Amino acid sequence: MNTFRYTRAQTAQQVVAAAAERPHSAFLAGGTTLIDLMKLEVDAPPEVIDINALPLNRIEAMPDGGVRIGALARNSEVARHELIRTRYPMLSEALLSGASPQLRNMATVGGNIMQRTRCYYFRDPAFDCNKRVPGSGCPALDGFNRIHAVLGTSEKCIATNPSDMNVALIALDSAVRVQGTAGERTIPFEQFHLAPGDTPERETVLERGELIGAVEIPPSSFAANSLYLKVRDRASYEFALVSVALALEMAGGKIRTARMAFGGVATKPWRARNVEEVLAGETPSEQLFERAGAAATEGARPRTDNGFKVELLRRTVAKALRTLVAREQGGGLK
Ligand SMILES: Cc1cc2nc3c(=O)[nH]c(=O)nc-3n(C[C@H](O)[C@H](O)[C@H](O)COP(=O)(O)OP(=O)(O)OC[C@H]3O[C@@H](n4cnc5c(N)ncnc54)[C@H](O)[C@@H]3O)c2cc1C
Ligand code: SF4
Repeated sequence: MNTFRYTRAQTAQQVVAAAAERPHSAFLAGGTTLIDLMKLEVDAPPEVIDINALPLNRIEAMPDGGVRIGALARNSEVARHELIRTRYPMLSEALLSGASPQLRNMATVGGNIMQRTRCYYFRDPAFDCNKRVPGSGCPALDGFNRIHAVLGTSEKCIATNPSDMNVALIALDSAVRVQGTAGERTIPFEQFHLAPGDTPERETVLERGELIGAVEIPPSSFAANSLYLKVRDRASYEFALVSVALALEMAGGKIRTARMAFGGVATKPWRARNVEEVLAGETPSEQLFERAGAAATEGARPRTDNGFKVELLRRTVAKALRTLVAREQGGGLK
């Protein structure tokens, strides 16, 4: 591990000013990603600015019926909070499906949004990696790529965004409140993360030194009818191979509106608007679930070892729909 300077900030203004002055510094929240990467020498910030003293851990109802979650709220607190469990169960389930209880007690919402990929080549400085060292190459393209993405990839990078929470937040039309030297701004979650394209080293639209202050989830008349389905190599303490966040508005035996997003298969949290369109206004049936599964895999580009994710995604989408419709209808398909 490289030596670094440690600073503890008391206010958001101090954090933002310090980060603007020393642009290669890093924010320390729960430390469950940052410290790992520093130990692996994947990341070597000369200065770490500890933001844990900032008053950013509240989870509160907004006047419009939405919920605001401070960036320092711990993953476990968010998952068990009454407002989240009752209004947005998919978010609670996504958080509880991630990591371990100990990690969730440390991990924060801001850190979870910003967590880095689990691509083995990225996490081992002995290998080239375009994300870590731009222009050095991507050994995953023709190497072992079982955990890699099939959607949103480029010839420069095929790494997945590993977060479960991000999948729920994008499905819920959330927004990220950030603060920089120029003031505050709000970024729709769908625009926050970037596909790799030619610049895989740039993962979000956050400018250097900008601090995430909170996530805002808008009110929804049907997000209470939602779930998060995660498929992984073992039942706990494992990242997603495929995951689906789904909310359904049902009326008169039909799906009026659907919200769907994927994890484990894409280079960024993946909103499946094409699948939402397939579902809108339709009567639930096995045929519809199959069509939705097929739409989910449109544009998928598997490599040597991850072709199974295409079929797994198709089946997971169908299963998520079957499960949530059955729950809504108090049994199976009518
Ligand atoms: C063994 C293990 C298993 C895991 N399994 C899962 C899993 O199954 N699913 C899953 O989703 N995740 C999983 N995780 C990842 C875990 O969720 C993240 O490590 C955690 O959410 C990061 O939060 P943190 O507060 O610890 O971030 P930190 O490590 O403190 O920070 C991470 C990054 O975010 C930046 N950052 C932090 N806060 C802010 C802010 N407010 N504004 C701007 N930048 C900020 C930091 O500078 C750093 O670059 C796992 C982690 C481990 C170690
Ligand atoms: S997939 Fe992306 S993160 Fe992994 S080695 Fe290639 S460039 Fe690096």
